[in-house]
Amino acid sequence: MTAPATETVRKARKAPRMTYRQEIATIKNLPKVQRLIVIMKIAGVFLVAIGLEGIVTANYALALVFIPLGIFVSMFPVKIRTDRCIACLTVLAPGQAICPACGAPQM
Ligand SMILES: [Zn+2]
Repeated sequence: MTAPATETVRKARKAPRMTYRQEIATIKNLPKVQRLIVIMKIAGVFLVAIGLEGIVTANYALALVFIPLGIFVSMFPVKIRTDRCIACLTVLAPGQAICPACGAPQM
């Protein structure tokens, strides 16, 4: 038993083929990853703000700790995004568009 209709839709979208299970995994993980990215970006801005507050109040130790930490935290999600599969979180080679472990296309 095959599903020709589904096959046609997939070809029309020109998306790499994924199994139903992989598609579910991608959909389930994506909002989680995106939420994490948003949280970390906000946290990063907040940490930099604490660091800047340290400069304003001449508390340079605070600035030295929180500004790099804030920058790191806000850059970190970019790293997750580029070197981890969005579906199964397998480490990917740089610029790899399709996960070698589960075959999910990366966005
Ligand atoms: Zn994967």
